[in-house]
Amino acid sequence: MNPTVVLSYAIDLVAVLLLALGLKGLSKVRSARSANGLAALAMGLAVLGLLMQQQLSLEAWLWIAGGTAIGGLAGWLLAQRVPMTAMPETVALFNGCGGMASLLVAVAVALFQSTTGTLSDTAVLVERLSIVISVFVGAITFSGSIVAMGKLQGWISTPGWTQSPVRHGVNITLAVAALVGAVALPADPAGPVLWLLVAASTVLGIGVTLPIGGADMPVVISLLNSYSGVAAAAAGFVVGSQLLIVAGAMVGAAGLILTQVMCTAMNRSLVSVLFGGALGASAAGHVGGGGDEAGYTRITSCSAEECAMALETAERVVFVPGYGLAVAQAQHTLRELSKLLEANGAEVSYAIHPVAGRMPGHMNVLLAEADVPYEQLIEMDAINPEFPRTDVVIVLGANDVVNPDAKSDPTSPLFGMPVLEVDQARQVFVVKRSLGAGYAGIKNALFELPQTAMVFGDAKAVLAGLVSELRELGVGKKPAAV
Ligand code: NDP
Repeated sequence: MNPTVVLSYAIDLVAVLLLALGLKGLSKVRSARSANGLAALAMGLAVLGLLMQQQLSLEAWLWIAGGTAIGGLAGWLLAQRVPMTAMPETVALFNGCGGMASLLVAVAVALFQSTTGTLSDTAVLVERLSIVISVFVGAITFSGSIVAMGKLQGWISTPGWTQSPVRHGVNITLAVAALVGAVALPADPAGPVLWLLVAASTVLGIGVTLPIGGADMPVVISLLNSYSGVAAAAAGFVVGSQLLIVAGAMVGAAGLILTQVMCTAMNRSLVSVLFGGALGASAAGHVGGGGDEAGYTRITSCSAEECAMALETAERVVFVPGYGLAVAQAQHTLRELSKLLEANGAEVSYAIHPVAGRMPGHMNVLLAEADVPYEQLIEMDAINPEFPRTDVVIVLGANDVVNPDAKSDPTSPLFGMPVLEVDQARQVFVVKRSLGAGYAGIKNALFELPQTAMVFGDAKAVLAGLVSELRELGVGKKPAAV
């Protein structure tokens, strides 16, 4: 065998191992950054290995180098500029790009390079079926991800008709059209049915994603991530790349596991997310902010000074970080405050809800940035029984994940979603800028409970105020209480 080809297979093998190690490392915050580097290196090696297996002309190399430079620069610029709070949109965009890449590869092979022969030839049949899967899943992933990104950005709202049964009729019609294309394509891959399959699948991706929104978005994003892996694996069969098959299958499986984890966290079944459409609240097409402030009647608000006085005497304090903490970039000020409280003898922990923020693990990453010790981050199931013996809970820019209606009000769009039971604590301070709603766009019964006081303001400014109030009270200077 040609030594270059042998070397390319060795490179492929190393790439697969690095990819597997990268995925494993991503499961822990501590190793996530280096794991991401390993996975990126694996992808680079994979591309190199694949190119070495081709007999490429100088012109082809130049095209590839030019495309890599342009794409790499665009990705680098995007990564530099995108704020942490816009990560879900970025992930959705990347998923969409992955789906589109698989779609384009399959279309190119169907049009220009499809193996000639009859369908009784297994190799021909496998290639044509792989083209069908790659086009179908790739197109749905592409259009669905772009819609998801638009909804997360607030560019696209949920049209009223998508909440009616009409949408099922539209989607079934599109699915049937795609099925017709899928059945006919193997016999004539470069014919008009290819375009029928591309068009029907693309519009179907829009049709199934458009009605979903609100608190169901995390599930959709991780499902689309899984789809992008399936499309890539199918594209691997189309071009005969074992590496692409392995990498695509890994992404597909990882995305599916994440989808399952998100569904469990939200107490939703995948079927109800996909076919039940949006949660009631998300039907309004709401994304962040807003809310009906006039709906509240029994609100108690207090100053940072009063909150600091409660903190001074508290023995057990739990912080509940949410999306607003990330917006305010207040994680470092929060860490400063918790160090003061610890110096004062208080036991401090952070309650982590699985869908707090705007991406899985958002709060873990945010708090890790401020060097919060991992052992202080307590998952929802472990912290909930602790709230009744907690003196003070400070809710920082969180809203949906602490809404008690999710447990008690069957009419609430959040009903059934497990939440942090902060209402069980002795005293609750909610730090946010207004009475505006969270992501699901609904009222929060927590704000009106007798043990709750609102501390209005930007999370960073309020936390800085608490730090200076506590310093004025002498906290952190005197020896810790025994
Ligand atoms: P929410 O989106 O429910 O609430 C965030 C709150 O932060 C708002 O009510 C807002 O109120 C407040 N806020 C915004 N900016 C600031 C600021 N600078 N300072 C202080 N407060 C601020 O957040 P949660 O984390 O509680 O819930 C996450 C929601 O997002 C869930 O519904 C989840 O399903 C959804 N989601 C989660 C994803 C994930 O993977 N984790 C992905 C997509 C959606 P105000 O404007 O009054 O300040």
